[in-house]
Amino acid sequence: MQAKQAKVLVVEDEVSIRKFIAVNLHRNNFLVLEARDGETALRMAQNVPPDVIVLDIMLPGIDGFEVCMQLRRFLPHVVIIMLTARGEDMDKIMGLELGADDYMVKPFNPLELVARIRAHLRKIQYDPPQKKNCLQFQKLLLDLDGQRFYKNGQIIDLTPTEFAIMKILMNKPYKAFSRHEILNCIWGENYFGDPKTVDVHIRRIREKLEDNPSNPQWIETVWGLGYRLKGEGDYA
Ligand code: CA
Repeated sequence: MQAKQAKVLVVEDEVSIRKFIAVNLHRNNFLVLEARDGETALRMAQNVPPDVIVLDIMLPGIDGFEVCMQLRRFLPHVVIIMLTARGEDMDKIMGLELGADDYMVKPFNPLELVARIRAHLRKIQYDPPQKKNCLQFQKLLLDLDGQRFYKNGQIIDLTPTEFAIMKILMNKPYKAFSRHEILNCIWGENYFGDPKTVDVHIRRIREKLEDNPSNPQWIETVWGLGYRLKGEGDYA
């Protein structure tokens, strides 16, 4: 079986270093994405979540420490390897609350970076699956173990029923679910409740989730049927 090509996002403002890393990763069969500052990296990681992020600390705008912390909020399981110039604060890099998995001191041998990335990816593959028991769609993350829901890394408090509805919608983004399907998923096949209760729950979820609940960007009403989850800014 052929392994899936792992995606690595390289965040470094110095073009020569970034290209050097990118070329070496590419040569070793990684899919490489590049960002030259923290804001770009965060935006790219939200749109296309990578498997690994190689993150320089000294960046224009927000620094690598801040990027690392923000990344962890919406990508709890991505591998983050920080790059540091000699003399930078190692304790801070390895600090638990920062959430980096590893670091390398510049200048480094690119083959060592490749080896470390492979080692981290292998570790993830053998990790117990419950660690990854999450549903993710764009900026939304549903942590099934922790029963928590996040938008953009910020917790949104949902009731158990609201959580169950988000789980149904996030399992299949863009699929339209009828009110009956949603009721059945939550309360079982033999529940003969009023489908309108679904509307009440959806309204409450929208009040918490949407920037403007009367013009919802996430949960779309499918007229005569029910609801579907679509992406922010998607009009399809
Ligand atoms: Ca730099």
